[in-house]
Amino acid sequence: MIPIAKPLIGDEEKTAVMNVLNSGMLASGPRTEEFEKKFAEYVGTKYAIATTSGTTALHLGLLGLGVTKHDEVILPSFSFIATANAVLFCDAVPVFCDVDPRTFNLAPEKIEKLITKKTKAIMPVHLYGQAADMNPIQEIAQKHSVHIIGDACQAHGAVYDGKMVGSFGDVECFSFYPTKNMTTGEGGMVTTNNQEVAELIISLRNHGREKTKWGYEHGRLGYNYRMTDIGAAIGLEQLKKLPKNIQMRQKNAAYFDAHLKTVEIPYVLPKATHAYHQYTIKSKNRDALTASLKKNEIGFGIYYPQPLHTYKHLKKYAHDDLKNSETLGNEVVSLPVHPALSSQDIDTIVKVINATI
Ligand SMILES: *Cc1c(COP(=O)(O)O)cnc(C)c1O
Repeated sequence: MIPIAKPLIGDEEKTAVMNVLNSGMLASGPRTEEFEKKFAEYVGTKYAIATTSGTTALHLGLLGLGVTKHDEVILPSFSFIATANAVLFCDAVPVFCDVDPRTFNLAPEKIEKLITKKTKAIMPVHLYGQAADMNPIQEIAQKHSVHIIGDACQAHGAVYDGKMVGSFGDVECFSFYPTKNMTTGEGGMVTTNNQEVAELIISLRNHGREKTKWGYEHGRLGYNYRMTDIGAAIGLEQLKKLPKNIQMRQKNAAYFDAHLKTVEIPYVLPKATHAYHQYTIKSKNRDALTASLKKNEIGFGIYYPQPLHTYKHLKKYAHDDLKNSETLGNEVVSLPVHPALSSQDIDTIVKVINATI
């Protein structure tokens, strides 16, 4: 069986975890601080704040921008459920926008007509590891004085217009779930250049605590969204390996691009360097294709079979300009592209797909 994803854990991660266990400092401490510093350097932001998951990073990111009850947040309907749920956690209103069928990302030309007086933020998702088209999105945000919160949960190592993803939004949020480009077990990170936002998020992550004499003083409602030093120790090692692992993903993707004949391969924006968290093709004949993959023991994923506006708790936010998201739900298939694939695995995948009409 060729798996769709595989976390790569080596002796470095194992040693780092043992060192934390032996230190007796298991909760958030020196390893977490170091991980935040290194991650901020990697992305090119002033601050990085570690959390318990990508989902809690998104929740804190929205709260950090002041998103609150009745505010509207514009987001793509073609994404993982957590993108929309984070908006609901803030009692805010998700306003779904359709995506570009080529990039799978927020269609910039469809954003402006969704902006109202209540719009607080635009939330582009850098789906599958390709940056959303940030230049036009930033222009729209500036023109209407709304914030940008980037969902970069799939886009560690992605580049757009010469800059790392994670440095575009007022805040951007990453996930370190085991299937992502790097892992901490479960974990997340918020990146920002804004000191005030960073300080608010740091407080909210720790029960709304304030920097006071005794420590246990709480200025606002907050949460426990703190990363452990065990997770951070894994993350530090994974971060060192990330550039090489992204290169392997890109190499595998380039091979697919050159050799896949019978399906539509991923389109990459001229300004973007795709990190290939997923290599996602489109097929009008998906049932036949996936049956053939299954028969040949090739793992695949359907990310995502349904656009967000079709879920029961989100249906009331549906409207009739979300057709691309609906079509993609029926056509996308993600293939294994991770660094643990052998060249034989890759050849097998190409052969099986090219033999399927
Ligand atoms: C994985 C993911 C999340 C959530 O991250 P978790 O760490 O699983 O909470 C959010 N948005 C997108 C697009 C994701 O892929």
